[in-house]
Amino acid sequence: FVAFDGVTKTFAGGVHAVRDLNLDIARGEFVTFLGPSGSGKTTSLMMLAGFETPTAGSILLDGRSLDRLPPYHRGIGMVFQSYALFPHMTVAENIAFPLTVRRRPRAEIEDAVRQALDLVQLTAMGGRRPAQLSGGQQQRVALARALVFKPPLVLMDEPLGALDRQLREHMQIEIKHIHARLGVTLVYVTHDQGEALTMSDRIAIFRDGSLQQVGLPGEVYERPLTSFVAQFVGESN
Ligand code: ATP
Repeated sequence: FVAFDGVTKTFAGGVHAVRDLNLDIARGEFVTFLGPSGSGKTTSLMMLAGFETPTAGSILLDGRSLDRLPPYHRGIGMVFQSYALFPHMTVAENIAFPLTVRRRPRAEIEDAVRQALDLVQLTAMGGRRPAQLSGGQQQRVALARALVFKPPLVLMDEPLGALDRQLREHMQIEIKHIHARLGVTLVYVTHDQGEALTMSDRIAIFRDGSLQQVGLPGEVYERPLTSFVAQFVGESN
């Protein structure tokens, strides 16, 4: 469904953020990019989102090269660590935004927003502004906004990084449920080994821009291919 084919990203100044990334992601999979800070996880995700272009190689979505797909036809929902909500809009308007820009009919928008609010358990909060919500609730709004247009692919970059431990664990379970229920393909970025091990179908481990190992959580934990993977994944306890 998603294919990184020899993808390299070199930034001006010669920073090799991603080196020759080859990775296939199946439809419906939950794949986590795991690695320390600066290892190239976010840059890989941003290229998939279309916010960065590869220096070399290509990314295929459903067999089509990403650079031939206009952004609104890519069907990609995104959640960032900072939530990136619009402060002047209500919760419902924030969630409606991806549909408003796609000029969907009003009745369809209202229906989709109601469903999305229910999905993230914020049914009664549609009229509030983001500043009137807790961090965890704001994160749910960002989640609802990413899911409201039913994208087949959802990207999340450290979405729980700003939450306290208890809320983070709760949201991990909720995101797993949403993934299972909607059947979306989910690519999730984190530097938290425990989060990756408990949530993912497969984990892709990055170091210095290079993919070290891809495998089931049990595989990377019990049969690490490099001493870096052994050490990094082993730090989860
Ligand atoms: P983090 O968890 O800290 O976000 P990461 O694994 O997501 O780390 P990236 O953000 O992908 O790592 O960064 C990979 C490398 O590319 C780093 O060395 C970073 O400094 C560099 N880099 C990222 N974005 C840019 C940019 N716009 N210009 C120049 N260098 C960049």
